[in-house]
Amino acid sequence: MNAVVSDVKYLQEEIKKLASEKKAVILAHYYQRPEVQDIADFVGDSLELARKAKETDADIIVFCGVRFMCETAKILNPGKKVLHPNPESGCPMADMVTKRDIEQLKEKHPDALVVSYVNTTADVKTVSDICVTSANAVNVIRKLDAKKIIFVPDQCLGQWIAKQVRDKEFIMWKGFCPPHFEFTAQEVERLKERYPDAPVAAHPECHPKVTEMADFVGSTSQIIKYATTCEADKVIVITEVGLKHTLKKKNPHKEYIFPESMNYCGTVYCCTMKGITLDKVYETLKNEINEVVLPEDVIEKAKKPIERMISVL
Ligand code: SF4
Repeated sequence: MNAVVSDVKYLQEEIKKLASEKKAVILAHYYQRPEVQDIADFVGDSLELARKAKETDADIIVFCGVRFMCETAKILNPGKKVLHPNPESGCPMADMVTKRDIEQLKEKHPDALVVSYVNTTADVKTVSDICVTSANAVNVIRKLDAKKIIFVPDQCLGQWIAKQVRDKEFIMWKGFCPPHFEFTAQEVERLKERYPDAPVAAHPECHPKVTEMADFVGSTSQIIKYATTCEADKVIVITEVGLKHTLKKKNPHKEYIFPESMNYCGTVYCCTMKGITLDKVYETLKNEINEVVLPEDVIEKAKKPIERMISVL
């Protein structure tokens, strides 16, 4: 066994030992590094992780994801100690809209409901009517008793929803997810030419020109289900490359082809998701540092749109 592999294994074992001693649960998003996913008690998308955080009876939640996800865990289970192994890991898209932006939009459109993608800060949630995830957005918005919807922050997800919910007017914020926005229609075209029998599965945070070319559009969990169970033995997957680890684990007999385009990180992956490392998880849990703290009034107000989403489903 080489030194790097043995270091990884050693750290993984130490983290698991610490977690058991401290009665901690480790939650990880699908876009986390493979070695971080492998120490998690549960790997999931933002909705699944929010549900786990709400239900857990562990004393400590170690959340391997970006800041808004840790905030959501704290909001849903405020009695728990929530630790974020890298407090610098925020979501660039979540930071593209502020509470003040929403207040100004509400002044301009007083008859509209504010629907926030769960990828928003706790502050933004305090002035939102309801949250959605990419897995449930269409169903939740269809059920809302409003003709006008302010949708923040992701314009691509917003446009994808609007195509399916034709009886409502949408006021879109112009945020975007940097990694998903990098994928181009030209690249998808190239992949389709190279693998003509492979269907294309894309995340709705991709540009509409990309999702229009896809055979299947869905949230991370929906893509997992589609890609691992469809008949094709090769699937082109247009989303963050961290998902490959889960796809391979769930169905190793298929080939999953991810785009090779480059972004500011050197390839298309979410830099901030990858900011969580085993070292950081170990230090955080060992010393119980990097605790997520939110003011009580923020927790109270931000909880309402999240719970409303859960109750609508
Ligand atoms: S993948 Fe996109 S939406 Fe998810 S954390 Fe990264 S920047 Fe935010």
